[in-house]
Amino acid sequence: MIHERLLQNLREPRTWSQCNQATRKKLNVFYEQAYLYAKTAQWYLAYVMGLSVELRIAIWNGLGKRCKSENWCHYSPVLAYWFGPYSEQRMRFILRTFSRVLQRFEHGYRVGQEYRPVRFRCLTTKVKRCRSGVIANASEYGTVLVCPRLLKKTTCVGGMVVLHEMLHQDLGVGDQRDVVCKRGDENRCYRRGARHLVEHQKLEKALRNNDNYAFFARAIYRHIFLSQRNG
Ligand SMILES: [Zn+2]
Repeated sequence: MIHERLLQNLREPRTWSQCNQATRKKLNVFYEQAYLYAKTAQWYLAYVMGLSVELRIAIWNGLGKRCKSENWCHYSPVLAYWFGPYSEQRMRFILRTFSRVLQRFEHGYRVGQEYRPVRFRCLTTKVKRCRSGVIANASEYGTVLVCPRLLKKTTCVGGMVVLHEMLHQDLGVGDQRDVVCKRGDENRCYRRGARHLVEHQKLEKALRNNDNYAFFARAIYRHIFLSQRNG
């Protein structure tokens, strides 16, 4: 199975805090899915980087692929859709970011000269932020804080959330804020906000916004591994 081969370098998250057996099982599934997203994206980008500039640009622009809905295409595997017009510098930054987050999956978070495997800490709804709509959080280096709502998500979404959280801290990306992303009280560029950054030519922010990576990685994974019919 190709998935098993892809997973062979994954380091199990061995540190748990306040997570019961059932929760650990679920989070391991999300964690594996997140790794597959990042691994596929990194592999794809490294492959495209090895092509001629003309081919690179053609693939970056999606070779004519179009979404059914121009409005919001959350499964678009087209790099230009998530990161704007081609530039070699931007492509290298994206590739490097995926390579660096993969290091975390394969070796752990760097602490001095050592690597510490990611820690998951399971919170309860008694924690205020879990009641305010947060599903996960990465405010502590090396730890993904999990709210109960995350556990109800599908593998597809759970994987994307874990990847989003593992992109936080020290990789040069984060949750960008912009007026074009404003929805209610929220101005961080989550979900559609990722696309809004590109539509409004906020390309530096798009390049440094976690959800642009998480959505692109999920889409390219689906594009490569799932048929259109299943996808
Ligand atoms: Zn975030």
